[in-house]
Amino acid sequence: MAHIGTLFIISSPSGAGKSSLIRALLERPSADGRLQVSVSHTTRPMRPGEEDGVHYHFIDKAGFERLIARNAFYEWAEVFGNYYGTSREWIDAQLAQGIDILLDIDWQGARQIREQSPSAKSIFILPPSREELERRLNARQQDSAEVIRGRMAKAVSEMSHYDEYDYLLVNDTFEHALNQLSAIIEAERANTGKQAVRYQDLLSRLLAE
Ligand code: 5GP
Repeated sequence: MAHIGTLFIISSPSGAGKSSLIRALLERPSADGRLQVSVSHTTRPMRPGEEDGVHYHFIDKAGFERLIARNAFYEWAEVFGNYYGTSREWIDAQLAQGIDILLDIDWQGARQIREQSPSAKSIFILPPSREELERRLNARQQDSAEVIRGRMAKAVSEMSHYDEYDYLLVNDTFEHALNQLSAIIEAERANTGKQAVRYQDLLSRLLAE
């Protein structure tokens, strides 16, 4: 069956506000089950407040390596010393039903997805300033100072890949960034090729002689 859903890749450095934007996007009435976020597998330890199967599928390194060997991942990468991966099966089933999927993945994963699915759309989210990024990384208070310093350095290296993405957003005001994200998703839903599959019955009725 043709894939009429779209894969949206969303990347940003930690602390740019990506998770809150994704949450708000899913809560919008227009999302209405037509938009789902992929739950990745990871070997990193669970943070307070996180739930297995909701934020991630938490798995040990040996289990992750077994999934790699089984070709279960669309993409996978090592980020901050831990493995992260996007499982293939669930995503294919959603796309076939016309459901759009958000992938919250890093630039390495984004490259792998683009190679396999050239029609995927990718969006990079920047924080409004370096100071604000530092403030947000500190405000999280779930990680040690050393981890935060490491993440700041990684944030800069992550941001250097902004030009590989189709869209670049600055999360200056939350509502503005949310509206832009939503507009990108809605515009892609109206893509002629995808609408022609979605509305094939309507089109054949409208075009009948
Ligand atoms: P965190 O540990 O803070 O949840 O995520 C760290 C980084 O890993 C983020 O940049 C996030 O986008 C990235 N990430 C999360 N899941 C995946 C995945 O399945 N694949 C890849 N390549 N990166 C991921």
